[in-house]
Amino acid sequence: MRQVQCEGCGESTPDYDIVSYGTTGQGYRDLCSRCFNAEVAKHTGHESFANVSFEPIWMVDRAGERHEFHFQTRLLGDVVALDAFELRDGSPAGYRFQLVGQPGNDVFVLLGRLIEKMRRALSTQHLTDGEYGLQIADRTVRGRIEWDDSAAERTPLIVVDGQEISWEDFGRMLMTFEGWQFKLEISDPSEKL
Ligand SMILES: [Zn+2]
Repeated sequence: MRQVQCEGCGESTPDYDIVSYGTTGQGYRDLCSRCFNAEVAKHTGHESFANVSFEPIWMVDRAGERHEFHFQTRLLGDVVALDAFELRDGSPAGYRFQLVGQPGNDVFVLLGRLIEKMRRALSTQHLTDGEYGLQIADRTVRGRIEWDDSAAERTPLIVVDGQEISWEDFGRMLMTFEGWQFKLEISDPSEKL
């Protein structure tokens, strides 16, 4: 895991928790999310914003597998984004969730809502192991579109049930439904899926 020194408090911080923060005349500084939030709070008049760090938690999915989730809270002007994500080799990967609230909201209430969202997602499995490898279990697939750095073409890597699926493999899964129709809806990370 790459560690970066926060230019605010000087703490050694994992790079996924570093935000490049720029202000006019000062250039960019690499800040940990705590220092970043403090800066944003100062500039947006949300001084009363309570910066709470949450310890990682474990959750079990429908298949009985354990997932460790890390949390990050960011004050983004007039919204607060609370993210939960898994880490693989020190980088966010697998399941990822986001909830957006107002700076005045109780962050523990936001956390409660986020955990509810995570529970709901972890209790659903869209893919199942079939005769020919992974298959679509029912008729609905929910997932996330990510960058596939192993792909020569600019094709997405999709994450379903916390698993990375190449565009090619996903295409193969769809062939079970040859001749059927589909509907594709895209929504932002904080929206309900
Ligand atoms: Zn800091």
